[in-house]
Amino acid sequence: MYYRSKVFATVLWSLMVWAMVLTPRAAYAVWHSEAQAIMGTRVSVTLWYKNPAKATHLVAQVMAEMRRIDSAYSPYKKSSNLSRMNRLAPKRSAANPLAISPEMTRLLGKALYYGQLSQGAFDITFASLARYYDYRAGTQPSTAQRKQLLPAIDYRHVKLDAAAQTVYYSRPHVYVDLGGIAKGYAVDRAISLLRQAGVKHASVSAGGDSRVLGDRRGQPWVVGIKQPRVGEGIAIKVPLNDSAISTSGDYERFFISEQGEWVHHIINPSTGNSSGQLASVTIIGPDGFDTDALSTSVFVLGAEQGLALINPLPEFEAILITRAGKVHYSNGLAPPE
Ligand code: AMP
Ligand code: MG
Repeated sequence: MYYRSKVFATVLWSLMVWAMVLTPRAAYAVWHSEAQAIMGTRVSVTLWYKNPAKATHLVAQVMAEMRRIDSAYSPYKKSSNLSRMNRLAPKRSAANPLAISPEMTRLLGKALYYGQLSQGAFDITFASLARYYDYRAGTQPSTAQRKQLLPAIDYRHVKLDAAAQTVYYSRPHVYVDLGGIAKGYAVDRAISLLRQAGVKHASVSAGGDSRVLGDRRGQPWVVGIKQPRVGEGIAIKVPLNDSAISTSGDYERFFISEQGEWVHHIINPSTGNSSGQLASVTIIGPDGFDTDALSTSVFVLGAEQGLALINPLPEFEAILITRAGKVHYSNGLAPPE
């Protein structure tokens, strides 16, 4: 009896092995997920793909693209294209502008467009002064630095010729930082890479910027908006298909000053101080390049002016949480009265 059941078990086991070998690989399509620390934040990728080896390769390609973007546009890396531009563009002029890459031209073009659309609330030259905040050390620019560098904050000092792919800065001390737009661009690049490889269901996020491809196999993706300042809790869950979502929050990088002020990383370009009224702004739209810039813009503009910017844009919606915890929605999301 024992012998027969052992034979039976062996036969069954080998049948299972053969079934695994012979079944087409498509039957093993599963979710693949990975997260890594890149761009000073957490980059995560989830995708559904039939071939596990190819899926692992695709995840690696996404991570490599994120690292490439970080090394090209990080203001903290001396060798980045951005650092090079910040070193050279102030020394150039209309007669002798600096040649830049097609990608840098696109990034600057989009950033300057949002500078104009937000009437200067989104301003990539905020860092002319704000580079002297150190959120880890809890230090702020000095009064002398504020006086000298505040006038250097104005996106119109960045003279881009998109057709010629050149730039120069028209004032000394101008310093560009693309931190308000680069992560949204990066998640777009990741999704387009996956889509071109034939992936139908994926989600990519870089800190507060996420983009989803397709649905979650029959269900929407669900992206959580963090409860500002109260631990790691989720305040609102947003179901999404084929969209981007960006959240700007005053809890991402901050310190509390000796005077008890909440000093954080989103800067009002007209004062050089952290921007006041809101605790978090979420923008939903077709791509991350736009939702990232818009979330930072609306954060600086505040609830009233911010919603006035978003409501006329048919492709974008907004969810705002004030410091007092009140939630405002753009017209397309507002619950019926
Ligand atoms: P986000 O989390 O996308 O809102 O991006 C915040 C980042 O945008 C900051 O860490 C800065 O690098 C950058 N930033 C801060 N203030 C501004 C501003 N007024 N305009 C453009 N970028 C900004
Ligand atoms: Mg942003």
